This record gives sequence, structure tokens and C-alpha cells, in this order.
Amino acid sequence: MTTDSSDITAKAASLIDAVLAEPASDHDIELVQRQLGRYPRGMVAVGARCVCGRPLAVITRPVLPGGIPFPTTCYLTGPEAVKAASHVEAAGVMQQYNDMLAADEDLRATYGRAHELYLAFRHELAVRLGDSEEHIEGTSAGGMPVRVKCLHALLAQSLVMGPGANPIGDMVLAKVKDEFDPAVCRCTLED
Ligand SMILES: [Zn+2]
Repeated sequence: MTTDSSDITAKAASLIDAVLAEPASDHDIELVQRQLGRYPRGMVAVGARCVCGRPLAVITRPVLPGGIPFPTTCYLTGPEAVKAASHVEAAGVMQQYNDMLAADEDLRATYGRAHELYLAFRHELAVRLGDSEEHIEGTSAGGMPVRVKCLHALLAQSLVMGPGANPIGDMVLAKVKDEFDPAVCRCTLED
């Protein structure tokens, strides 16, 4: 499998096209506010939804109101998804993933491309919104490109960008299937 940087740039642009085609509605913002228990500052759009339509992950702009740089462009908000990722972390699976990364060169390469795609995605968003990437340039999320530090961030990328975008996020999604699955609504949040 080969993915060069122009493929990554093109994929990032088409993902951002889709994100910006449907900006966050007032209802989306209100639902996310209740999911997080705080107002989602800088929220641009819902990046992934449950089959029922409720938000699972949001896209946040690179610079929050007030000029605060924000690197976690894809942020997990669905309470069931957050809980499922926390259960996997608590089970010590992060160490397993780090061991796999250390042992598997192909996985390291694919994970490195997930990092590049994350950066390209945010860069495209920054350009279109006129945001600066000062202070967050080269910083992605979840420990990428060489470590696994936050499964929530990696799962969020997989949900937003689809299968194949982040190999570890895909593994988390497969692992939690009985507890969380975007194709099976287990939402408890009222509309
Ligand atoms: Zn649902």
C-alpha cells in the first residue's frame, strides 16, 4: 500500500469539504453542550454521528475564540463512545498497542500516515477558516505519531475520517463494538 503526501492532501480536502458542507446547527451545539457538560467553544461541525443522528465527535477550529490554540481537531463527545474508550484504556490495552507499534513496522508506517492525515485535515480547516496554526503546528492527537496516549482521540479520528484513516482507532472501534457502535444506537441523551 502506498499513500504519498498528495493523496493525504486530497483526502484531507475532501473530508473538510464534507465537514464544512454541514456546519454545526444550534441544535447540534446544544446537544454537544449537554454531552460534555460545557459549551463547545470553537465547534465548527459535527464530524461523526450515531445512526440516530446524535453527535459522536465534533470538529473544533484550530484557534478558539479568545485566540487559544486548540490541537484536538477531532474530539469525541458521544457519552457511550467516551465510556467505551475509557473502559479499554482502563483494561491496559494502551500498553498492548504501544508494544504492537514497537514490534510492527507496517503498523508504525500506517500510524504515521494517520498523524499526517490529521495534520493535513487541520491545515485545510485552518486555511479555509483563516485560523493560524502557530503553537500547534506538527501536533496531532492521542500520542501520534509514535505513541498511543489517548484512545478517545484516536477513536474520534476513526469516526470522523472513516475506516483506514487510523489503524489504532480502528482497533479500538472493533474492540468496543458490543458497547459502542456508530451503527447501533445506544444513546441515552434526550433530544
Ligand atoms: Zn444514537
